[in-house]
Amino acid sequence: MDSSFEYLVTQLPPMLDTLERWVNHDSPTFDKAPVDALGLQIADAFAGLGASVESHPQSEYGDHLRVDWGQGDRQILLLGHFDTVWPVGETARRPFTVRDGKASGPGINDMKAGILIGLYALQALVDTAQTPAHRLVYVLTSDEENGSLSSRELIEIEARRSDYALVLEPTRYGSLITWRKGVGRFNIETTGVAAHSGVDPEKGVSAVEEMAHQILRLQAMSDLASGTTVNVGVVGGGRLVNVVPASAKAECDLRVMTVAEGERMERAILGLTPVLEGTTIKVSGGINRPPFEESEAGLALFERARAIGARLGLEIDKTGTGGGSDGNLTAALGVPTLDGLGVVGEGSHALHEQILIDSLPQRAALLTELVLDLGQP
Ligand SMILES: [Zn+2]
Repeated sequence: MDSSFEYLVTQLPPMLDTLERWVNHDSPTFDKAPVDALGLQIADAFAGLGASVESHPQSEYGDHLRVDWGQGDRQILLLGHFDTVWPVGETARRPFTVRDGKASGPGINDMKAGILIGLYALQALVDTAQTPAHRLVYVLTSDEENGSLSSRELIEIEARRSDYALVLEPTRYGSLITWRKGVGRFNIETTGVAAHSGVDPEKGVSAVEEMAHQILRLQAMSDLASGTTVNVGVVGGGRLVNVVPASAKAECDLRVMTVAEGERMERAILGLTPVLEGTTIKVSGGINRPPFEESEAGLALFERARAIGARLGLEIDKTGTGGGSDGNLTAALGVPTLDGLGVVGEGSHALHEQILIDSLPQRAALLTELVLDLGQP
């Protein structure tokens, strides 16, 4: 039973070599050429294990990859993304570094180490000659950090064909993720009437003042106890300091625990009305990633992972988070989804982003044993 773990521990040096190459290769979501170049390296690595790799070409973002290995009608979907939030040049400033049992570098935790774990779980199956009952289909995407706009369809098509979805996003301090909040995005525009602020102030109506009212209304919709949060994160308006401003814009982020709460909040935000006479308001947007609610099937999946972890000597807990992932998309389709099956680390999107090196073979073994276990009744 522990054969994959013992095998994977021996693979740590090549794992780190591959991770170093991937981390030192910038792959910002909005820069197609470097993302595509990294995608080719990842595709080669999977193809080298006998998987068939399809590229799904994109015009704006990097090309997505669909990796298919194994046989049979039943499939398990494994999800990862190889784009990062870091610009080109970041890895030259902060290259892959190993110290005190940890490795650091841009995008290492979120989530190049997770894709590596997916790769080595497959390598362990190949090299220990074990075949899961399910076909493994990896969908590796290039635009997760911008809300998976171009990859959503591919993810959903494969999710509908799958018995399970396993998401290789990082653990939360070692815990697996059984729920995530849903995410909404809204654009708010107010218009008023321009006028000279000194000569004719009474003829103007300020779109900025109107927006200020709306911002306070929006922020007041947050309710930490129920998990609903609203954040007006971007705001702007007006043109010159001596003109009563005729327009203002804001962008707002929404997080909710349940589908019902998402619908309620969507209605509330889209239904905002002006406060000041003479202004108008336009609101667009909605829920982008539906809530990944904790489900019985998802918890059963977690219990299997926990039992496997115990056999491997790993104590595994579950948790949830307000951060979305592509697991939101699969869970919302009713596909039993377990998230956070990637590396143990911290500092995603932050300068101190790092991982625990020992967790690479541990989590790869957990994934290997889990895909084998899912074929058992
Ligand atoms: Zn991620």
